[in-house]
Amino acid sequence: MILNEIQCKSILNKSGIPAIDFGINPYIGCGHKCQYCYAVFMKRFSGHTEPWGDFVDVKINAPEVLERQLKRLKQKSHISFSTVCDAYQPVEAKYRITRKCLEKLIHYNHSISILTKSDMVIDDLNLLKQLKDIEVGFSVFTLNPQANRIFEPGSPSPKKRFAAIKILSQNNISTWVFVAPSLPYLTDHEKTINQIMAASQNAGANYILFDTLNTYTKVWNNVMRLIKKHFPEAIEFCNYYYNNKTKYKKQLKHKISKIGSNYNIKFRFAF
Ligand code: SF4
Repeated sequence: MILNEIQCKSILNKSGIPAIDFGINPYIGCGHKCQYCYAVFMKRFSGHTEPWGDFVDVKINAPEVLERQLKRLKQKSHISFSTVCDAYQPVEAKYRITRKCLEKLIHYNHSISILTKSDMVIDDLNLLKQLKDIEVGFSVFTLNPQANRIFEPGSPSPKKRFAAIKILSQNNISTWVFVAPSLPYLTDHEKTINQIMAASQNAGANYILFDTLNTYTKVWNNVMRLIKKHFPEAIEFCNYYYNNKTKYKKQLKHKISKIGSNYNIKFRFAF
């Protein structure tokens, strides 16, 4: 892992994502190294040529910059950690930039959301409890251990993520599960949807949001490279998705809705 400490000029950056006003990305790059990650485009902006997951730039002055920007921000806003990295990726254990940013945010009234794959968020439980409006989401795309190792080689296991949801829920912090990306065969299998629904419900998550895979050329080619190598039985299902997206999405919604009716947890779709 190549680590660089860098200075940022701005940390509270306007978001193009609907319902999120500002994103906070304490790091550039992500040690979780997910093989379907769309944030790989950050390599272009940051001038990195190393493979995605092999470098992280640490915005060492982010907490001080955030403090200055928060003082100037007059209207209540929705601020999200993080839009192009994971705020609780492994390097956070060393630098605690996310934690230091939360320490600034507890003095304000903004609506804060965190989306992560890491149970390290629990280390900041005391800070999270001091935020007036906070929601923590966990991404999970399958509970198949082999697929997790291959597609999310740097992330804590889904088991740890659900254990973290349970702890947060027990502490009255609102949680949700982001099933994304839904990979044909690996995510959309009836058994997998049932497992994710059951685990989310048992952990006390408030709701589940499902999304499909974005087929940007780079992402798609990488996903298919791994599917061909490790899950050849999934090739035909992936190709069907690629060539019939509208039909596939309709069928997936129908399948999830049918399975979801057996559970006592809300779910919705981002597609
Ligand atoms: S955790 Fe998120 S940002 Fe990090 S590599 Fe995975 S998908 Fe990308």
